[in-house]
Order: sequence, then C-alpha cells, then structure tokens
Amino acid sequence: MRFSGLRVIKEALTGHRGWKPLWRNPEPKPEYDFIIVGGGGHGLATAYYLASTFGQARIAVLEKGWLGSGNIGRNTTIIRSNYLLPGNEPFYEFSMKLWEGLEQEFNFNAMVSQRGILNLCHSDGQRDAFRRRGNAMLLAGADAELLDQDGVRAMYPFLNFDNARFPIKGGLLQRRAGTARHDGVAWGYARGADLRGVDLIQNCEVTGFRIEGGAIRGVETTRGYIGAKKVGVAVAGSSGRVMQKAGMRLPIESHVLQAFVSEGLKPCIDGVITFGAGHFYVSQSDKGGLVFGGDIDGYNSYAQRGNLPVVEDVIEGGMALMPMIGRARLLRSWGGIMDMSMDGSPIIDATDVDGLYLNAGWCYGGFKATPASGYAFAHLLATGRPHDTATAFRLDRFRRGALIDEKGVGAQPNLH
Ligand SMILES: Cc1cc2nc3c(=O)[nH]c(=O)nc-3n(C[C@H](O)[C@H](O)[C@H](O)COP(=O)(O)OP(=O)(O)OC[C@H]3O[C@@H](n4cnc5c(N)ncnc54)[C@H](O)[C@@H]3O)c2cc1C
Repeated sequence: MRFSGLRVIKEALTGHRGWKPLWRNPEPKPEYDFIIVGGGGHGLATAYYLASTFGQARIAVLEKGWLGSGNIGRNTTIIRSNYLLPGNEPFYEFSMKLWEGLEQEFNFNAMVSQRGILNLCHSDGQRDAFRRRGNAMLLAGADAELLDQDGVRAMYPFLNFDNARFPIKGGLLQRRAGTARHDGVAWGYARGADLRGVDLIQNCEVTGFRIEGGAIRGVETTRGYIGAKKVGVAVAGSSGRVMQKAGMRLPIESHVLQAFVSEGLKPCIDGVITFGAGHFYVSQSDKGGLVFGGDIDGYNSYAQRGNLPVVEDVIEGGMALMPMIGRARLLRSWGGIMDMSMDGSPIIDATDVDGLYLNAGWCYGGFKATPASGYAFAHLLATGRPHDTATAFRLDRFRRGALIDEKGVGAQPNLH
C-alpha cells in the first residue's frame, strides 16, 4: 500500500475501508542473520537501512514493549545539525540531509518541518563561541547565520531582551533545522522495514545473550531463544542494563529527561528557540501547544517520569526568557530515560564479543540522529566497517582518552 494524495481522495470517497495495518505481527523465527534489540527510532532505522540500502535479509527487531514506546515517542522532536567538533558535525549534517529526503524515501508523512532553530547568546564570549560553531557548520556543508539583537527582535519580538541578568545579544540561526513528528518517524521506518521483509516482534524482551567461544550465537527472550549471526543493541536508556547481560559495563549513566506541553494557543512561535543562559528550549506544535523542556533530572534513574524540582527549574527558565509563557496553562508532562555518555557523544561500534554491536550514548539528542544513526549502524553491521561520518564514535575512546567533549564539561553527564 502506497500513500499518495490520490489514495487519500479515493479512501475518502469509499468510506476509508482500504487502509491496512502499517506492519505485520509475525511470530519469531528460530534464527535470523541480524537481530536488532530495541524497537525505538534507532533500531527501526537500522533494520530499514539494512534491508533497503545494504541489501540484507533475515532481519528481526525485538522490542520489549510496543514499537515507539521509548524515547522516540517521548522527545520534543527537534532536528538540527549545529554541532562544533569534527567527530560530530559531519555525522549530524549527514542526518540532516537524510531528514530532508526521508518522507519521499519511506513514503510516509513524518511531518518534517524545517522551521529553523535559533540558539540565543547572552554575552560577547558566547557570541564568539557561536561564531566559531557557525563556521564549523559551514565548513561541514551545513547552513548557519549569526544574528545580532535586532535580527532576533525581528523574529521573536516577545522575548525578554532587557533581562538584566541575561540580556539577549544575538543568536545562531540554522534555518534548515526544525522539527519532525517523532512517532511518525518510528512508524515510517517500521512500515518501510516490514515492507522489505523485516520481522518486527513486539512484547519480546531480550533477557540474555548466548555467547560461545567469544562469539554471539543468539539471544534469550521472553518468547524463547532466537539464534542470530549478528546482534545489534539499540536500547537507548536501557543500554547499561541490557549490555550488563553480555558481561559489559558501559561508560553510560541513565537519567530522566522531562518534556512539557501547554494548552493549544494561536500560532506565536514559528521555529525552535533555545535559551543560551538557562537550559530551556521551546517550539509550537501544529496543534498549537507550546512544547518545551530543559535539564535532565540529574540523578540516576530508570523511571519514565521525573520529579517536581526540575519542573520548577524549567518553568523558571521559560519565565526568564519569555514572561508571556506564565499566562499559558501546562497541559501534560512526561519523562524518558536518557543514555548519558561520559562525554555527551554517542557510541556506534563493535564490542569485544564477535558479532555483538552497540548503538548507545545518545543522551538527550538522539532523535535528530535517528536517520544517520540507523544508516551508520546498518553500515557497520553489514560491512564490519564504521561509516565515514561515524568513525569517532568508538567505545574505546573512553579508555584512550579521545573524548568528543562537545560541551567542554568533561565526564559529567549531569552537565552535558
Ligand atoms: C523528553 C525528551 C525530549 C527529547 N528531545 C529531543 C529532541 O528535541 N531532539 C533530539 O534529537 N533528541 C531528543 N531526545 C532524545 C531522543 O529521544 C533519544 O536520544 C532517542 O530517541 C534514543 O533512541 P531510540 O529512539 O532508539 O530510543 P527508544 O525509543 O528509547 O528505543 C529503545 C527501545 O529499546 C527497548 N528495549 C529496552 N530494553 C529492551 C530489551 N531488554 N529487549 C528489547 N527491547 C528493549 C525499549 O522498550 C525502547 O522501545 C529527547 C528525549 C526525551 C525523553
């Protein structure tokens, strides 16, 4: 079943009886060539590219809950490629380019909206840092514009420019950045993978790994043993717990990140705004709700809900930046489990176990990485070599001291 404008018209005229489920619900087979653990964005994208781009078959995605029940369905949907370091920027720009063609490629409306992201700066030093970052972005083929205060005022006149503590001096704008509908992305990749023969198996938790002679043989699950030649783990916030079952201790801590949505308002924020002095970012959804968030909860947790002190902290950030937000009522909030790596950058690598691969450490920025992460992980699984844009995301960089410390805060997950 292909989606198109004509199809929508035909279904509208015939009582919408022709729509089919987006994927099958198959029983697990005894063995696969590739098993992907985790049916979030990264796991589903990996399976999709393995089948579509790398011509692989006999692939299964094993998901302990339902597809999209993790962070892929909980994030604030921001996509961007405004990074500084050479290990990161080309990868995120590759992801941005994949976003730009994604909906045509997998024939699904993921509501990719290039509405722009504006990072505000509040001091001369921060402006210099943004200028450097913008230049690094341009060198990697991304777009970047430095705005002065008047430029920001023309876009968002309602911001609090004269806040004595954090006056807004300007901002770094990436026009090609924006938002995408998070669960639409999961469904699009799931449907695309299923169409190419990938078995998407829900309610199937991986409870252990069968490793013999230093090589992977398969996985133990709540639906029985399943053999595999290669296993790729992409379980985000559960990475520490799952890899422990393979005898590995990761340089990752799990923390909660919360998100918030206000009641629906008339359109007032065209793009995404981030507050460069507090940790607060905001955009407006197509339904009119202000979607915003801030810091992680700052203590280790596997709970998918957060605590009140961070709610207060985020709202304070919002009030400092745009006092009008105080008139809006908060409608909903929720939390997801972040796989916070020790330098704030991800891991896409093989492990010491032959045939066992790891995709993790996305912290609170893995949604924008979904296409490139899936592509690069599929490349690694299919060819045994890292993709050109992901060569720095090695697991042993923490042992070698070759960190990709984008924020310059060292091994401090609570500060990234
Ligand atoms: C509130 C919030 C806001 C965010 N905002 C942004 C943003 O604006 N922009 C951005 O780029 N990123 C953002 N992120 C981060 C982004 O959502 C994540 O980095 C990314 O989704 C993680 O990859 P994933 O989609 O594969 O993870 P998930 O969707 O969490 O997928 C992992 C899956 O593994 C499954 N699993 C776990 N254990 C097992 C097991 N033993 N067996 C089988 N399956 C298992 C889980 O059930 C889950 O479905 C945000 C996250 C949150 C929570």
